[in-house]
Amino acid sequence: MDGTTILVVEDEPSIGEVVTLYLKRAGYQVTAVRDGEAALAALARRLPDLVVLDLMLPKVDGHEITRWVRQHGDTPIIMLTARRDEADRIAGLEMGADDYVVKPFSPQELVSRVRAVLRRTRGGVGGRGESPLVYANLHIDPGTRLVVAAGKECDLTAKEFDLLYLLARHPRQVFTRDQLLDRVWGLTEYIDPSTVTVHIRRLREKIEPDPANPLHILTVWGVGYRFEP
Ligand code: CA
Repeated sequence: MDGTTILVVEDEPSIGEVVTLYLKRAGYQVTAVRDGEAALAALARRLPDLVVLDLMLPKVDGHEITRWVRQHGDTPIIMLTARRDEADRIAGLEMGADDYVVKPFSPQELVSRVRAVLRRTRGGVGGRGESPLVYANLHIDPGTRLVVAAGKECDLTAKEFDLLYLLARHPRQVFTRDQLLDRVWGLTEYIDPSTVTVHIRRLREKIEPDPANPLHILTVWGVGYRFEP
């Protein structure tokens, strides 16, 4: 038991119960709720270390809960979706989910995903820490805001750093330009979406060995960008 808290939001009692059972058995402290309203109430009381979230819920749906969680911090979300359609999965990840599991799933697989996501977001205890991210030749230190690529220190602007750190903290997660604008620049300012394109290009010039053939910051055509570790 390390005190890691998980909120399970699932309206189908049989799934909610088995997920709760397996997560508790894996040593997590689990709170389970059956509708979106109860989820928002639980989240407002205390942000858990991770949310397991069913997409289709009574009262308030999973999209709205994801939005709420993203507005209030970096709590990772694993989405449960009954739909197999690739577009829906991408939409879930775009909305800010860290991973997804398609129903029907094995509870043991969900536990593995929970462990992986908590490991990726560093520890789970006390949420996301500020320890450096290290990917092959790329070191990103949020404490000092220092980026070293292939042994060379990179001179990044504040927004370039924020953009890189956001992408790198969520490896392989696809972000749309609007999401990047929202998360890096904030909703308060009006910014042209091409700003993102410009920053991505400058970032590649600074951290990629060959900016024309990027290894880390990849374009997902028609959607946005993702970080490849
Ligand atoms: Ca449901």
